[in-house]
Amino acid sequence: QATPSVITVQGLTKRYASGFEALKRIDLDIQRGEIFALLGPNGAGKTTLISIICGLVNASDGQVRVNGHDIVTDYRAAREQIGLVPQELTSDAFATVWNTVSFSRGLFGKRADSAHIERVLRSLSLWDKRRNKMITLSGGMKRRVLIAKALAHEPQILFLDEPTAGVDVELRRDMWDVVRSLRDQGVTVILTTHYIEEAEEMADRIGVINDGEIVLVEEKAALMRQLGRKQLRLDLQ
Ligand code: ATP
Repeated sequence: QATPSVITVQGLTKRYASGFEALKRIDLDIQRGEIFALLGPNGAGKTTLISIICGLVNASDGQVRVNGHDIVTDYRAAREQIGLVPQELTSDAFATVWNTVSFSRGLFGKRADSAHIERVLRSLSLWDKRRNKMITLSGGMKRRVLIAKALAHEPQILFLDEPTAGVDVELRRDMWDVVRSLRDQGVTVILTTHYIEEAEEMADRIGVINDGEIVLVEEKAALMRQLGRKQLRLDLQ
């Protein structure tokens, strides 16, 4: 039985002003409730793709629908369903954890809801840190706060751009646990990574992107059977 798509991408192309084609006619469906890993080397187009899906960057051609809402012509309705954790860990040093997360909810025009903020903070083991200033947090904790921030407006879909880039092994495992628990709470998760181990460890499905093209989309288990880790690693080099 087919799972409904929450995101549909059709013929997506991105040409930067230089004429460089960062994405070449991408087609992609993301299914409700899955963890989808977009796996590819540096410069493959991962950030460009998720920036367009989230409505932050305009495509040169093609279409993105989020639960049926066009990301360009129906931006508000589409955007409301998406949370994004960008690659860079930016935050206001003076803001507390609580402020950071609740402010983000306000940005979406959502009514303040301290019960929801509390739930999100607890689910990420941040409750005890709610009064801490962002500048005092470790990298791992800061990452958690940015996830909480992305979830503050109750999106159904969460994008994580390279959630474990530059993170040590222990913190990486910690992040994997966080992502799985989000999926268990019903959030659809799309993450980008250039670690095959990460895609293998976490994803239900994997899309391999290289040089602006999705070269393969497969159930993880099938992909691993077909290619084997060694082969896939070679492809990505
Ligand atoms: P990384 O893993 O390094 O983040 P990525 O897969 O996310 O890489 P993108 O950041 O999407 O890749 O970049 C894809 C390609 O588009 C790269 O060659 C990059 O240099 C180019 N690119 C990105 N942004 C711009 C821009 N604003 N203008 C011109 N080229 C750009």
